[in-house]
Amino acid sequence: MLQRLPLLVFSDLDGTLLNHHDYSWDAAQPALKRLRDIGAGLVLASSKTAAEIVGFRQAIGFSNMPSIVENGAGILAPGHPETDGPSEYLNILNILRHLPPGFRGFADMSVQEVSDRTGLDLVAAEKAQDRHFSEPGVWDGAPEDLGTFISEAGRYGLKARQGGRFLTLSFGKTKADAMSDVIRQLQPERTIALGDAPNDLEMILAADTGVVVANRYGAPIPLQAPEAERRIFRTTREGSEGWAEAILTLTAPDHKDS
Ligand SMILES: [Mg+2]
Repeated sequence: MLQRLPLLVFSDLDGTLLNHHDYSWDAAQPALKRLRDIGAGLVLASSKTAAEIVGFRQAIGFSNMPSIVENGAGILAPGHPETDGPSEYLNILNILRHLPPGFRGFADMSVQEVSDRTGLDLVAAEKAQDRHFSEPGVWDGAPEDLGTFISEAGRYGLKARQGGRFLTLSFGKTKADAMSDVIRQLQPERTIALGDAPNDLEMILAADTGVVVANRYGAPIPLQAPEAERRIFRTTREGSEGWAEAILTLTAPDHKDS
């Protein structure tokens, strides 16, 4: 019989496994090695696209695991798959044609414009435009028309979520939804989820142990009710150092879950 996965770790990228300021993950290396040594899995969960994530997943040595992409709207299978045709994405673009004008999505923008709006270089911007499950954009119409646009989109099943920079349209799945799909599939004995921002909170609360990685630059994850807070590990260090702090502590042989 196949051995059950002893531990499955879900992790946000920016500000969590990657440093906020220089995107380095060097400090996480000992913790990544620990996960490999104990036979644990690591599922990256990010707003990034499959094209943006696949190279990094390989670099950290977890190409055997699925990744949660586009904020939970989709899952990138293990390996180096030719990602399926972007049919869900084409659906979104089709629906947009039936909606009142005013939304300017990544599909309407040149690579240069995406680069200007995100701060990504042109190569990275092109990968960010290679979308399969969701469409980020900006509202160019009159502010008073936005409500109508969002409710019309809702009639087609599209959900609009306002992030820091973009209004993103998708069929509404979150990182936590995708996480429960992966858990159902892989049936791990134990789960840990790490994040640094309020949009990671659902995922953090859905794990056996949640980790809040300190981030002095962003909106904090507020204290939770005591029974939830007991299952949360809050790091003192930031970014990849905080990531290593949490994983090395929580996977230490003498560690006891509370
Ligand atoms: Mg983050």
